[in-house]
Parts: sequence; structure tokens; C-alpha cells
Amino acid sequence: MTEPAAPTAGDEVTNPSLESEGELAFEGALRPRSLTEFVGQQKVRGQLQLLLTAATMQNRTPDHILLAGPPGLGKTTLAMIIAYEGDRPLRMASGPAIQHAGDLAAVLSSLVPGEVLFIDEIHRMARSAEEMLYLAMEDFRIDIMVGKGAGATSVPLDLAPFTLVGATTRSGMLPNPLRDRFGFTANLEFYAENELELVLKRAAALIGLPIGQRALAEIAGRCRGTPRIANRLLRRVRDYALVHGGDADLTAVHAALELYDVDEIGLDRLDREVMRIVLTRFGGGPVGLNTLAVSVGEESETIEAVVEPFLVRIGFLTRTPRGRVATPAAWRHFGLSSSGGLTSQGGLPLDDL
Ligand code: ADP
Repeated sequence: MTEPAAPTAGDEVTNPSLESEGELAFEGALRPRSLTEFVGQQKVRGQLQLLLTAATMQNRTPDHILLAGPPGLGKTTLAMIIAYEGDRPLRMASGPAIQHAGDLAAVLSSLVPGEVLFIDEIHRMARSAEEMLYLAMEDFRIDIMVGKGAGATSVPLDLAPFTLVGATTRSGMLPNPLRDRFGFTANLEFYAENELELVLKRAAALIGLPIGQRALAEIAGRCRGTPRIANRLLRRVRDYALVHGGDADLTAVHAALELYDVDEIGLDRLDREVMRIVLTRFGGGPVGLNTLAVSVGEESETIEAVVEPFLVRIGFLTRTPRGRVATPAAWRHFGLSSSGGLTSQGGLPLDDL
């Protein structure tokens, strides 16, 4: 089986998975360090708090935890919090970098007791490593093959007890035996606008940017329910205010976001392009994922993991067994009728209509 491609470029400011080095440092400074500082996801926070407190009271490592959801919603942040809250060391690894069982064995055998092992994009780990992980998660043990051919023997190796925190943007791609070995799965949801305002307010305070409530609310409405995008748009607004020598006010927000092609409901160029193809080239669908990806010149995984979840969430696109279908709300938003013409109310422009 070939490895699925990583989500690649979309639009830089609104691609929830794109991280430059500068951005990683910026994000690092903004990451909440405790569950109480972590905004939103109330249910998941409560569940995690209970699980972690119980483990501390019983003086044992917490159960393995799977964090599932689109990029930029706080999976890495939560993994770090899980380690901080229990005062445990944290090891970071990533699924695509684990290409052989040996890569995983090297990580597992060097864990210290109680360590939290975070594996990002765990669905992209090699199959042979996945199988090794089953035994490691269940019995804190792995079998290492020594020698080759007929003389090869397997030597058991005991591991220090650890907590695996796996993150995935595509929980459907995890094999059941792996999914079943997590004691708890948290499905992260897109954030509500009032939660994003809190994320932004906190970030603005941390970077020392004076910004008013209306400007915050405007950014919150345009960041696709995603804290990473919220922080990134805030940064662009700060740049705009800095360069133009003005305040980070509503005018700066409008100007900065127009410059970066983010519309009033957070759609970017790629979202509009996907909708344009579905609505105008395929008459509203159904259209298959791969056809759609080829038509917009993107990886199908980018469309599936990055673009679609938001379009589905705002009720513009539905996934059916026959393909993707545009909803009446999408037709209305873009001022089109399903017979192909513009509706009388007009609507928002699709690029290149
Ligand atoms: P993921 O691992 O799901 O892609 P991250 O954990 O890296 O997402 O989060 C991206 C950024 O968004 C982090 O730097 C953090 O500052 C911010 N963030 C995410 N979730 C929250 C939250 N609930 N509260 C405050 N900031 C958040």
C-alpha cells in the first residue's frame, strides 16, 4: 500500500496545517500550558481532567489517548498539556517518520517510566510499526527480531510504562485493532466564534497587541473555527497595523484579510475554487473526491482533511456515497441557481465565474 500524501499547500494564511519555522516559534509562545488555560472543547477537557486526575491518584500512567480532528484544533497542544499536568516527560514523534518497525522500536525502548509519547499523524505510520505498537500499548513489551532468515529469533524486550497520545486528522484510516487499544478517544470539534474570541484575546495579550472587541469578533468570524488560523490572521492584522502605523482596529482587519483573500465567512481561494468546480463544472455534484482534487490541482488528502470539513460544517457541501454535493445554501451564498444562472439576489462572487 502506498503512503497517502501529506496535506500540501492550500492558501498560506488559511491552511490549517501549514507551519513555517517562524510560525512554529510563534505558536509555541501561544500554546496554553494547562487544561484550564485551554479554551473551548469543554467536554473533552472534562473527560481528560478526570482521566488524568484518576491516574495521578492511583499513581499509574494515564490510559493511552487518541486525539482526532482536523488540523489546527489543538491536538499537539493537548498532548503537551497531558504531559505538563502530570509533570511527565514528553517525547514527540510523527507517523510519517516511522517507516519501519525498527524506527518505532528505537523510540519505545528509550522511553523513561511515565513518559508521554506523542505520535502526530499516527495514521501515516508504517504497517509493521503499527503491529509492534499493539503489543507495546497493551503489555509494555515488544518483540525484537534478531538475525535473518531461518536463524532469526524474536527476543522480548520490556518497556517502561508510558502513555501514548496519538493524533490523527483521519481517524477513519486507523485500523480497528489500533483504535481499540486507546483507552480514550477525544474528537475535537471546530470552535464557536465566542471561543475563538477568547483564543484571540489571550494571544493578543501575549504578543502585546492592543485590539478592540469588534476587531477580535471580526477575525473570529473568519478563521474557519480553527485556533491556528485565528492566531495566524491576528499576526497578519498586527503586521498591517504596524506597517500602516495605525491601530489593530476593524479597518485594519478588513484591509489585512482582504489582502490575504479571506472572505467574511472565512472562505479562502481554495475553498471558493472547490465550490466553483462543484457548482459550475459539475452542476452541484455529485462529484468524486479524486476528480475534484484533480480539477483544483490539489492532493485529494488536502481536499478531504483540510477543505471539506469546513465546507461540510458550514453546510455548503455534503458527502454522499456517490460523491460531493453542493447544498442549496452554497448555491445561495454564491448567488447561483442550480440551472446555472445568477439568482436575482446576486450573492458573493466566485473567483473567475
Ligand atoms: P493541531 O495539533 O491539532 O494541528 P495545535 O495544537 O498545534 O493543533 O494548535 C495550533 C495552535 O492553535 C497552537 O499554537 C495554539 O496556540 C492554538 N490553540 C489550539 N487550540 C487552542 C485552545 N483550545 N486554546 C487556545 N489556543 C489554542
